[in-house]
Amino acid sequence: MSPDTISIQLPDGSLRSVPRGSTPFDIATGISPRLAAAVVVARIRPLEASAAEGVAETEAAATEEAMYSGSVSSGQTARIVDLSAPLHEDVALELLKEADEAALKVVRHSAAHVMATAILELFPETKLGHGPATDSGFFYDVYRPTPFTEDDLTAIERRMHEVVARNEPFVREVESREKGLEDYTREGEFMKVHFIERFTAPGDEISLYRNGSFTDFCRGPHVPSTGRVKAFKVTSVAGAYWLGDEKNQQLQRIYGTAFFNAKDLDAHFKRLEEIKARDHRVLGKQLDLFSIQEVAGAGLIFWHPKGGLVRKIMEDWMRDECIRRGYDLVFTPHIMRRDLWKISGHEGFYGENMYPPMELDDAEYRLKPMNCPGHILIYKSSPRSYRDLPIRYAELGNVYRYERSGTMHGLLRVRGFTQDDAHVFCTPGQIEDEVIACIEFAQSVLQTFGFSDFKVELSTWDPAKPQDYTGSPENWRLAIESLKSALNRKGIPYKEIPGEAAFYGPKIDVKLVDILGRLWQLSTVQFDFNLPARFELEYTGEDGEKHSPVMVHRALFGSVERFFGVLIEHYAGAFPMWLAPVQVGIVPISEKHLEYAASVKARLEAAGLRVDLDARNEKMNAKIRELTLHKIPFVLVVGDKESASEQVSVRTRGKGDEGSVPLVTFLDRATALVKDHAMAL
Ligand SMILES: [Zn+2]
Ligand SMILES: [Zn+2]
Repeated sequence: MSPDTISIQLPDGSLRSVPRGSTPFDIATGISPRLAAAVVVARIRPLEASAAEGVAETEAAATEEAMYSGSVSSGQTARIVDLSAPLHEDVALELLKEADEAALKVVRHSAAHVMATAILELFPETKLGHGPATDSGFFYDVYRPTPFTEDDLTAIERRMHEVVARNEPFVREVESREKGLEDYTREGEFMKVHFIERFTAPGDEISLYRNGSFTDFCRGPHVPSTGRVKAFKVTSVAGAYWLGDEKNQQLQRIYGTAFFNAKDLDAHFKRLEEIKARDHRVLGKQLDLFSIQEVAGAGLIFWHPKGGLVRKIMEDWMRDECIRRGYDLVFTPHIMRRDLWKISGHEGFYGENMYPPMELDDAEYRLKPMNCPGHILIYKSSPRSYRDLPIRYAELGNVYRYERSGTMHGLLRVRGFTQDDAHVFCTPGQIEDEVIACIEFAQSVLQTFGFSDFKVELSTWDPAKPQDYTGSPENWRLAIESLKSALNRKGIPYKEIPGEAAFYGPKIDVKLVDILGRLWQLSTVQFDFNLPARFELEYTGEDGEKHSPVMVHRALFGSVERFFGVLIEHYAGAFPMWLAPVQVGIVPISEKHLEYAASVKARLEAAGLRVDLDARNEKMNAKIRELTLHKIPFVLVVGDKESASEQVSVRTRGKGDEGSVPLVTFLDRATALVKDHAMAL
């Protein structure tokens, strides 16, 4: 190979020889001009890096460090570069077109530059902070004493369209750090000065990206020109303190989002509307399911009668399943002596999440943040032998945890909640089967409640730092192996996250995927090497000697409150028959049909259905509308014809008027839906 050429390996494995200093754009043009027009950025990897090292990459602008530091951190073998970046060594090259996640981030960060350009053209007194891409768009932190109004945001967006229409190339320029600091200091750009000082070192060169007359300190990469930022919107503005310190200047964070095309942008806002329409806090009020009351305190849930009914169904199902699967149901107190929390270690490592102690006549007490010590005391209440194991204690236990004010969120983040908690005590030889049983139980919860998709994560330790963990390396290996082996035996794909385990044991997390594709962390199967040691738990083995049992914590709903919140959003409040608090609404056409309506209600209730008869002296259509708004699965209308022939006229949720059928036919249909836990309605 001549010193003036370099080798480029394309994704299909073919090699191309090109002049040293060629850019990805040159190479794309060499392949086809149409390709050159479609690519956004390039991903390169040194050719000597073996493929086995994977494609870990520096995500463009994912973090502040990544935004400003010029170097690629160690271990990262691939990185995203401008199409205009000259290549000086042999590389594997991927030309990223639209639809690539990494390319979208580059488009979004470029949109942030376009927005900064517009802001400075309209409001030249503004000082710039930083403008990274995010998972859903981008923002730019700016300093300007006058708050930006809605009209200002509209004007900024309009000016952005002009900047895009000008199709200014993004040009990378390099200058000395000292020159950059001098210029920014003179211009009063205190945030840029801070970022240069923090993320570069004396003697470094810094990179700037210029489009038209706007220049920004930035590592890049960027799209080739402003014209490539095609579909965007400025969405909102929020206050933030510089460096998160309230003694500092108040900044304004202007948010926007950008996509490859208008279709994706529209889909994004449709999805946001869909999420808003499913907000469990709004539906909880509208459907009268639950409330949170200022007078009682934040993060504390009041279950109204209809929400209470759903909860009863969830809890009954869970308790019955526990018994069917060999668990014992237990109940433990809400407050226990402070000394117990000292033995368990919660006083130390969990104290700041607990409510403060209360002084009673004999001792200090604390509200329980977890159920484990209670279950352990039951285990310890009599001697245990290997013949007693496994012991599985389950409780729908109310726990109280201190969450900072302002962090609470409906049913999802609360200060008091109910864990469907269980603790398994077993021998090391039993552990794998126990883990499998927990996984099967978790799958059954998801299927029963209507979730078909889930993701599993396995958090393990960092074996290089055994001092950070309690429990012997041998125990850790055994535990991790049992968890892996259980997942493999069930054929469940999982992602291992080394170093993510708690200090007391590895765990499996099951994250369900809801109808909008959102992930929710609910079920956990967690090993514990800490509590059995702290409480000196033991059992007599087959050898007649004392041994320490293996302890596993597991929760499947996670919390009943949180799971209910997820259910409300997943179903948009339209619960399937078996979960619906009211399953059937009855509307008599006039007062003279009241008697027949009441007899229909009695028949349905006798079959175990939950029925609401609207006997008010209101217009029929108004009643139907109201029952429909409450998302009741079936509304039955009864008039002369139905009364005379033992029929009901059926309106089905989502389908509308289905005409009259014999009452028995409807009864069979409705009870079958409940019995089967059917998802269809
Ligand atoms: Zn930039
Ligand atoms: Zn526990």
